[in-house]
Amino acid sequence: MIAAARAEALDVLVVGAGFGGLYALHKLRAMGWRTRALDAAPSVGGTWWANRYPGARVDIQSLEYSYSFSESLQQDWHWTERYAAQPELLRYADHVADRFDLRRDLQLDTRVTGARFDEAACRWQVETDRGAWSARFLVLAIGPLSSPNLPAFDGLDRFAGQVLHSAAWPLAPVDLAGRHVAVIGTGSSAVQIIPIVAAQAETLTVFQRTPAYAVPARNGPLDPAWEARIKADYAGFRARNRRMYSGFGCELSPRPMSALDAAAGDREAAFEERWGIGGFSLLGAFPDLLTNLRSNELAADFVRRKIREIVRDPVTASRLCPGYPIGCKRLCVDTGYYDAYNQPGVRLVDIGADPIEAITPGGLRAGGRDHRFDTLILATGFDAYTGPLLRIDLRGRDGLRIEDKWRAGPLNYLGLTIAGFPNLFYVAGPGSPSAFTNFFVAVEHHVDWIADCISWLDARGGRAIEASESAEAAWVAQVNLAPQRTVFTHCNSWYLGANIPGKPRVFLPLVGGFPAYAERCAAVAERGYDGFVVR
Ligand code: NAP
Repeated sequence: MIAAARAEALDVLVVGAGFGGLYALHKLRAMGWRTRALDAAPSVGGTWWANRYPGARVDIQSLEYSYSFSESLQQDWHWTERYAAQPELLRYADHVADRFDLRRDLQLDTRVTGARFDEAACRWQVETDRGAWSARFLVLAIGPLSSPNLPAFDGLDRFAGQVLHSAAWPLAPVDLAGRHVAVIGTGSSAVQIIPIVAAQAETLTVFQRTPAYAVPARNGPLDPAWEARIKADYAGFRARNRRMYSGFGCELSPRPMSALDAAAGDREAAFEERWGIGGFSLLGAFPDLLTNLRSNELAADFVRRKIREIVRDPVTASRLCPGYPIGCKRLCVDTGYYDAYNQPGVRLVDIGADPIEAITPGGLRAGGRDHRFDTLILATGFDAYTGPLLRIDLRGRDGLRIEDKWRAGPLNYLGLTIAGFPNLFYVAGPGSPSAFTNFFVAVEHHVDWIADCISWLDARGGRAIEASESAEAAWVAQVNLAPQRTVFTHCNSWYLGANIPGKPRVFLPLVGGFPAYAERCAAVAERGYDGFVVR
């Protein structure tokens, strides 16, 4: 690890040591750029460091949710389960940092507070809580889901018990035995937390504003035969996945027809088969489930029937059944979520109908009723995509502040660059397909594209590269138009910024699939970085 922070002149400063930042450091350094990475956390791992709540586990199979850039890494690493749990993912991040000797250029416990583009020097001057840095290029790999959403509940500061947030879980183990626990939220984090807490706590009360759709993970030990088959041609498996809409799932094809055209029995069999396979596969049963509301309703109805089969109390089951299209909010992948509501100490409270009025010293008040508990878990998600960037005092050309630039939404080009912010790139940011893509496929693509762009600029003697405002406007128009042809605009979700009061309602990730996006990025590069201005 590098010694004390200092105003060191670098070619590239990478912010973030999650899976995007680690690969950026490895790739750019291997290309000969003087590169350092910083992270606010005391460990590598990014989201898998922060989200260490009980039950945290990836929702894409680990043989797919992992790096492809090193054949020896992907051959040597063995995942113990089909879907790795958070500790194993953290071990993987640590292994990568050690294996590629990344720590010597990595400074942890260092939060970037500001960055200013110095036009005369054509460099980014970066402020941290541990000193200053100067770099020609700034690569922000700070994650789309790294700024926790802490709702401003009245009275939260007067709660007498323990308050925990899923995305900022304490390092020390939390013993919930004998406790009366409340969980606010029913998104992916809560869906993983709830079955574990239900098994440990004396009582559990879940406060649900909007029900989630959850499908079984069917997690278990990794099948050695499957692992051997994939490893026999891992590169081919990765290449096939990169041609998939979401960068994973190449071994399952949808039925070649609209869900509406399938005979009722065949359709039910297709949904049933995918429910048995587990994970996101259900949404891939027919090609039009996310683009046709009537097709979507058939899948939604299938899951609602499953909920009613699993949950014994009909009132609770009914409350758990969502009324919006399935997949509109990110589908949750669970292990025992619905079954948890069959346990005697578990209660579901609908705060969609009766919103929380206040947190009280002994619990909370909603709909005129007091609910008592001693431990409060906020599984209330993130200020997605824009939150992490807006926490940094980022100033581009002419002192342009990111908060002014993004007042009405995150203007960007290709989801990688921002007009007015030369030589700045970000990984898995707004305008990129990251939320709909296997994160590893997304970040490897972004970093490779950024590395090529920097090399291209340098080879032709350019000092700075920046998106043009016209290219940016056209890109943002596309990002906003694409979801209109899908089910994604038919509910309130973090994709739309709808979970954060006052946040502009614009669609944040790019809809349209990873392959089309990658083709577009390649075409931009082939045409001499079309849409960019070089100085
Ligand atoms: P989330 O999906 O945004 O869920 C947050 C929950 O908190 C929602 O149920 C939301 O209700 C509720 N909520 C937020 N503010 C509230 C308020 N003021 N009052 C009452 N309820 C409130 O967040 P998340 O569960 O942390 O997941 C975010 C994303 O992280 C996921 O979509 C996924 O991409 C990723 N993730 C993945 C995994 C995995 O399985 N690997 C696990 C966790 C997270 P509304 O729905 O009404 O807004």
